[in-house]
Amino acid sequence: MLPEIVKGFIILACIFIPLERILFLHKQKIFRLGWATDATYFFTGHFIGRSGAIVVTVILSLMTNLLNPELQSKVASQPVWLQLAEAVIVSDMAYYIAHRLLHEVPWLWQFHAVHHSIEHMDWLAAVRVHPCEQIFTQICKIMPLYWLGFTKESLVVYAVYSAAIAFLIHSNMKLKFGILKWFVATPQFHHWHHSKIPQIPNKNFAVQLPLLDLLFGTIYMPAQKMPHQYGISDSIPAGYIGQIFFPFSRRMKNAR
Ligand SMILES: [Zn+2]
Ligand SMILES: [Zn+2]
Repeated sequence: MLPEIVKGFIILACIFIPLERILFLHKQKIFRLGWATDATYFFTGHFIGRSGAIVVTVILSLMTNLLNPELQSKVASQPVWLQLAEAVIVSDMAYYIAHRLLHEVPWLWQFHAVHHSIEHMDWLAAVRVHPCEQIFTQICKIMPLYWLGFTKESLVVYAVYSAAIAFLIHSNMKLKFGILKWFVATPQFHHWHHSKIPQIPNKNFAVQLPLLDLLFGTIYMPAQKMPHQYGISDSIPAGYIGQIFFPFSRRMKNAR
């Protein structure tokens, strides 16, 4: 029997590869540059994600006096669809702040630069995230959800929704969401965040709710244009191991 993670990879590939062939935004190969590196991130990220959830559980178990059981039971008594909507708002607000820090604090940027080194956007590009960044953003996103007391059922629905959106926004697809584009993140929204035009990556910091960027004045989503070049001017190693060590080697170089 195939392990769950391999099954997940096959299912996602079977969904996104045909869709990206039919609805492609840019003409590109399936096995584009960096594909094997990103496939490695897919498998390692699964285990790193689990350890992030354990870290959150441990932190919360040490902070039980900060929990509010009355608030938690009110949150948990709501229908799942309402909890999902609230979880998206709360976690994306937290992610928005964490993501701005990743761009604005120089040593945090060294980790986030790995994600921005993607030069060909597709569904698999979503998983190119340095493990330290993955744990940091996961803690920022999940802590408030656990603290507020969302039910296990709604957290599972949220986890599926959030993973689906992450793959969708990186996918090489031309999609029109109409008015929904303010409430559901799309490739039209997130691709600009990966644009190689220097000032534009400092726009569109949310990953689920573009409305947040509209509220905070960081939105960039022109109706008729899409970026043609992705990536950053820094040179980042192409392989998985090189990318894992990149932020540390850069810090050592700067310290000399
Ligand atoms: Zn970013
Ligand atoms: Zn991205």
